[in-house]
Amino acid sequence: TYVIAEPCVDVLDRSCVDACPVDCIYEGGRMAFIQPEECVDCGACVQVCPVEAIFYEDDLPEEWAGYTALNAAFFAGV
Ligand code: SF4
Repeated sequence: TYVIAEPCVDVLDRSCVDACPVDCIYEGGRMAFIQPEECVDCGACVQVCPVEAIFYEDDLPEEWAGYTALNAAFFAGV
């Protein structure tokens, strides 16, 4: 899955929401989140993000490693 990280916080540009072919990016509070079970790993969202907030999970910078769990947790309670 792809993961949205800290650069999205308080930016919430939403370009990724429109770019995602399976509509698996959802707004929540101060950022957007990718539903990991719906993401088809196409990478379309990465290129349209103006703040480079989206990474493939294996390429996530170390300091933002916690965002994988954060994205998953956002949907756990839904
Ligand atoms: Fe959507 Fe593709 Fe981004 Fe996954 S990688 S969130 S399917 S645009």
